[in-house]
Amino acid sequence: MTERRVVAIRGIVQGVGFRPFIRDLAASHDLSGQVHNDLGGVVVDVEGPGASIEAFLAQLQAAPPPLAVIDSISVDSAPPAFRTGFTVAQSDASGAITALVAADAATCDACLDELFTPTNRRFRHPFITCTNCGPRFTIVTGMPYDRHRTTMASFPMCAACHREYHDVADRRHHAQPIACPDCGPVLGFQPAGARQRSLGAAALAAAATMLREGKILAIKGLGGYHLCCDATADVAVQTLRVRKRREARPLAIMVRDLNGARKVAQVSDAEATLLASAARPIVLLRRRPGSDLGGSVAPGLPTVGLLLAYTPIHHLLLAELDRPLVMTSGNRSEEPIAHLDHDALDRLGGIADGFLLHDRPIATRCDDSVAQMVAGGCSIIRRSRGFAPQPIGINPPFPLPILALGGHLKNTFCLGRDGRAFLSHHVGDLHHPSAVAALAEGVDQYQRLFGITPRCVAHDLHPDYASTRLAETLNLPVIGVQHHHAHVASCQADQGWGGPVLGVVFDGSGAGTDGAVWGGEFLRVEGSTFQRLGHLAYVPLPGGEAAVREPWRMAVAHLMTSCGTEAEGAVHDLVRCPPDQWGVLRQMLTSGFRSPPTSSVGRLFDAAAALLGLRTHAGYEAQAAIELEAAADPATTRSYGPLIHEQDGMLVADPGAVIRGLVEDRHRNRPVAEMAGAFHNAIRDLTVAMVTRLSRETGIRHVALTGGVFQNTRLVEGTAEALTRAGCTVLLHRRIPCNDGGLALGQAVVAAGQFAQAGG
Ligand code: ZN
Ligand code: ZN
Ligand code: FE
Repeated sequence: MTERRVVAIRGIVQGVGFRPFIRDLAASHDLSGQVHNDLGGVVVDVEGPGASIEAFLAQLQAAPPPLAVIDSISVDSAPPAFRTGFTVAQSDASGAITALVAADAATCDACLDELFTPTNRRFRHPFITCTNCGPRFTIVTGMPYDRHRTTMASFPMCAACHREYHDVADRRHHAQPIACPDCGPVLGFQPAGARQRSLGAAALAAAATMLREGKILAIKGLGGYHLCCDATADVAVQTLRVRKRREARPLAIMVRDLNGARKVAQVSDAEATLLASAARPIVLLRRRPGSDLGGSVAPGLPTVGLLLAYTPIHHLLLAELDRPLVMTSGNRSEEPIAHLDHDALDRLGGIADGFLLHDRPIATRCDDSVAQMVAGGCSIIRRSRGFAPQPIGINPPFPLPILALGGHLKNTFCLGRDGRAFLSHHVGDLHHPSAVAALAEGVDQYQRLFGITPRCVAHDLHPDYASTRLAETLNLPVIGVQHHHAHVASCQADQGWGGPVLGVVFDGSGAGTDGAVWGGEFLRVEGSTFQRLGHLAYVPLPGGEAAVREPWRMAVAHLMTSCGTEAEGAVHDLVRCPPDQWGVLRQMLTSGFRSPPTSSVGRLFDAAAALLGLRTHAGYEAQAAIELEAAADPATTRSYGPLIHEQDGMLVADPGAVIRGLVEDRHRNRPVAEMAGAFHNAIRDLTVAMVTRLSRETGIRHVALTGGVFQNTRLVEGTAEALTRAGCTVLLHRRIPCNDGGLALGQAVVAAGQFAQAGG
């Protein structure tokens, strides 16, 4: 007997080959009907024998297309219409938008095969793509996802592509970015300052020649421009650093495939899976000693950030050159990555010797993502290309639509509605007016794409963050969320844990509720409220920003706080401080002038690094801490005992013993590796001592480890293991960055809860 069902499928089901997949599946079960995209996802109207429909639905859920993510399926019965055949129908663009935009995906194996097959009509076509791969989010201009609402709208399909696009049996059936050498975008090469362009194969050849000659190339990628050079040519790498004004920060390296990766780094099976995933993030790996990477790629570090080729252009270029390439974001210092051609030619003109570009516009800027393996799982450090704008499931759902504007550094924003949070791509550091503009633009775009009109906006408590100031201009009720509270909520949302939790938040800085600069916090978080139960003892933060750039200042602050009359001697013996500045600093520290109290663990790492003679001035954020981690001997079992006391009803962890222990060890000429290892152990021990006491007092066993300091794998693994042994259930960041890149999600969850509670 013929039956009919109308099936609504929600999730990431547009732009991932879902309709052709449904059509093929229906055909294999001899079912008739049709499938179309609507604003909520995909709707299947199917009829045939009941048993066949059941089998069809089971298979649909068991093995959807590779890039699809099914959130929910609803099935309704309807009277049979006795149609014949199965068709893919026009999109329905009415109603509210709830469909999801897929993230960009790396070139799939099938396309890669064709790219290097001389008889294929897309042989060496730099824009080869299919329903299983290619650009998505970065070319979408509106919803629902269809070719005329992407930046491919201006490329009419040729007859051959048209046939594939409409051929139900083709891998490119309804693949929106489909193109070929006859109708697709064209690659161009332009030397810096010149107006002439070579096109197509000649452009690729010119770009490869330039790289071979040790020059700097700007390459247009999926979400923006990269700056590129031969990673084995140290002179080229140093030139890039000087021109980009990026002296020390590690540079990402792109290799052709996993074999290429294994030549320069140690790659575990889990890391190989991560490297080769469709998102193709930069993965932080141990460098292989003696590899042919230039020393300037990641000076002073045993690690390297590696990623595999993810566009056909990368594959063509790397096939030509067969060597690792530096692939760093196309910007000057910390500005947002350039994604518009005129802007790239203008801003990167002084850096790149040539440009490899094309005429498919980038609709949305999207930096590469960064990830690492921590405690047996993947942790995302920067969640951008390949992940954004995939939603994160939120339970319980948001009580109202909400916008959260994030922090000041590593800014991302978040739109939330119902059970979904759309955490944005990486926006960047809001010191730059262009980044603030990008934030405002991004917010507009997400509201349009996801059809979400927020009813309130969450921001950080810091009044001077550009994100806070932007919140105040939006004509919506605003809710300030304490920085470290938001970090904990972000970790809870990551792990889907809505119960009470003890949050350990270690980061650089965040505005506290008592006027101090917080950054070593032990919070009890329950529902949308928090209580500060403990913190690292306060020390003065001399000169704010200056202390961040110059770790020696924090060493002096900690010595003067912890070492009494011996402080001055220790400063002179151990801290290489500029002699002309020591007097001024001492004056500041004793008078308290421009030296607010801070509990920052990030700054304690700075102090320790300076005290060990590792680093007095930081060339990039957290450089001292990263080098301290790199220096630590993993075999060290020594530690510096924690001192905990009660003060004003709170537990205070005093790092004085740690500082004095380091001073003593230095006077005894202990090896730096041992002291750095002992320092890590000391922070672990201090954390465990605080948490076990607070856990006993509150009865809370769930512990969230969050804040940027927990990017330190040695610290997070040691602490998580010790806490687990002590009987705690440890929540670690996985999908959401533990640094300020994850802040907006926590803000959204907390503020929505508070707003609803207040009867908003
Ligand atoms: Zn493909
Ligand atoms: Zn074509
Ligand atoms: Fe933070």
